[in-house]
Amino acid sequence: MHSPRVAERLVPFGTSIFAQMTRLAQQHNAVNLAQGFPDFDGPGLAHKAATDALAAGHSQYSRMIGVPPLNEAIAASWASRGLGTIDPEREITVTSGCSEAIVSVLLGLFNPGDEIVVFEPYFDFYTACAAMAGLVPRFVTLHPPSRKGDGFTFDAEALKRAFTPRTKAIFINTPHNPTGKVYSREELTLIAGLCQRHGVIAITDEVYEHLIYDDAQPHIQMRSLPGMEDKTVTLSSLGKTFSLTGWKIGWAVAPAHLSAGVRAAHQFLTFCAATPLQHAAAAILREPGDYTRGIASLMAGNRDRLGAALERLGLTVHRSDSTYFLMADHGALGYADDRAFCRHLAEHVGVAAIPPSVFYSDPRRGQSMARFAFCKRRETIDEAIRRLERLKPAR
Ligand code: GLN
Repeated sequence: MHSPRVAERLVPFGTSIFAQMTRLAQQHNAVNLAQGFPDFDGPGLAHKAATDALAAGHSQYSRMIGVPPLNEAIAASWASRGLGTIDPEREITVTSGCSEAIVSVLLGLFNPGDEIVVFEPYFDFYTACAAMAGLVPRFVTLHPPSRKGDGFTFDAEALKRAFTPRTKAIFINTPHNPTGKVYSREELTLIAGLCQRHGVIAITDEVYEHLIYDDAQPHIQMRSLPGMEDKTVTLSSLGKTFSLTGWKIGWAVAPAHLSAGVRAAHQFLTFCAATPLQHAAAAILREPGDYTRGIASLMAGNRDRLGAALERLGLTVHRSDSTYFLMADHGALGYADDRAFCRHLAEHVGVAAIPPSVFYSDPRRGQSMARFAFCKRRETIDEAIRRLERLKPAR
């Protein structure tokens, strides 16, 4: 028997919490509110577009930067939303999901030893990829609100302290997984000022850009702030917007001088995303209809019902204005920590959630919370709520 061999830089990350919790959910037949993926199938047009693309014979490698209709559809979608003109050839790189875009940016634009500022809690993919690229993360904590109805916030001084002469990049995930925070113009302006002062590149993961539940908290692109266009790499994808997370079609939008680095890495990672799905993605982006509005309204309703149920059970639910997720504090129920709470939920209550301590540099910061995904059919959320009624305090 060989013991598992894993490179030292990956050992700290173990097995992804998403794989662990989905497996636990399957073992216990629990409603999976852990890993963030919808339990429905995306727009009807998606399937036709995919089978049409296969029938049309789009089965070979595509152009490295993306099939022309997709690059053009991404640029057209930006223009139609008033986000400005982007050059589909020089500024857009299509990747295998936003995940590959993240890896391409980190490997293609930075050198081992460079520092990157990361807000925590973070989607753990960022820190694992930073480790693979040899980057050194500097963490800034988003603190849970002390007043009911407020969102997570960071301390401006802590952010300033995180920038050092070695800082080359900052990761901004807005709207934010796992908290559902949408960064305000004021917050983004503060970050932009620091990027300009220190010559730092902003990498913004905006995959939840269309899932906005409060008009008073609109999504603002970092790239749109004065002086940021030539310093920002904007990442997004088809998956969250159109409930097609398994299609793995993403993109990086960046000025030509930064796209150069993204492409330098992307060509040697996957070279291109799945060709037929790129063509299908172009068709979907050209005719989005009101799919995203419908999905945002389903999600907002799910968030409200699930949140109210968790509050009735004694958890404190933090405000979430976007994404697939909400964070809730289970501290009043007396479980040892987030892992104990989530294990109990999956095994004895029949609902799986994510223990968010893995999203913190110091796991203690996340141990009184759990992340619940509400990106499901209404009936699934209702079934989860029925099961949650069995939840009792630990003591
Ligand atoms: N983004 C998804 C989530 O936060 C997980 C993606 C994955 O499984 N790697 O749940």
